[in-house]
Amino acid sequence: MTTDRAIAAYLGLAIGDALGATVEFMTPREIAAQYGVHDKMIGGGWLHLKPGQVTDDTTMSLALGESILKQGRVDALAAAQAFDAWMRAKPVDIGNTVRRNLLQFRKTGNPEALYSDHDAGNGAAMRVLPVALATFGQTEEAVRAACRAQAHVTHYSTLSDAACECLAFMVQDALRGASKNDLLHKHAHPLAAQHPEFRFRAVRQSRNPSGYVVDTLQAVFQSFFDTDDFRDCLIDVVNRGGDADTTGAIAGILAGAVYGLEAIPEAWLKALDTNIRRSCEGQAWALIKLAGKS
Ligand SMILES: [Mg+2]
Repeated sequence: MTTDRAIAAYLGLAIGDALGATVEFMTPREIAAQYGVHDKMIGGGWLHLKPGQVTDDTTMSLALGESILKQGRVDALAAAQAFDAWMRAKPVDIGNTVRRNLLQFRKTGNPEALYSDHDAGNGAAMRVLPVALATFGQTEEAVRAACRAQAHVTHYSTLSDAACECLAFMVQDALRGASKNDLLHKHAHPLAAQHPEFRFRAVRQSRNPSGYVVDTLQAVFQSFFDTDDFRDCLIDVVNRGGDADTTGAIAGILAGAVYGLEAIPEAWLKALDTNIRRSCEGQAWALIKLAGKS
């Protein structure tokens, strides 16, 4: 079950990314006018993607996962080098904070960015999945340290760290069979209690969420906890627009991990870029196998 759910989480990441990218930076009103409800993998969007093509959320995760598998563990320098190589290959999309701090890494060779409360974008949280899989079964402290090592290459901020760690623990508990309700009470509410910025219940529906990690998680949590299957969760979150590829990617991770492979709509899976699908499946399997060895 664990490996199946890990694969579903990785496919969920890619599917949410590809589905959301079509409507990235649009408002809910614009989406409704153009698509009614956006629910098909049709590509397009401001990046002019092919149907089923993914963006940085998925390709940075795969770059990180590859570095973890090569090193046999999460290593900050290896992650920085992997991201640097990823940037040199001219990805279709790259976030501002990611670019700025990778350029800094090229100059200094230091894989840890300077601390900044302004670097609380969602760029580290969107790629946390391979770390969650590779550290499955490790101590809480080890999981937190691994989350931070990968995150701080580009995003060193308290709120980004809190989001990354919360997501990693949610994924790991889902792999153990935790229900959505378990995840709500054990992880989402405690995150909002510790960092009230993340409160997602007493606030208005987060429509048109920005790239701020707080906006992202509010939208993801509202969609994830208020729907009951993979398809509804992803449709709900991407139709909010804004940073829809990343809200889609993170919601896809959680929904995949909780609902499993059977819940992923065949049409979306078929439309997903074939090489990306294979890479996601292969990495999920290999990362869980690596976790079992430690
Ligand atoms: Mg993206």
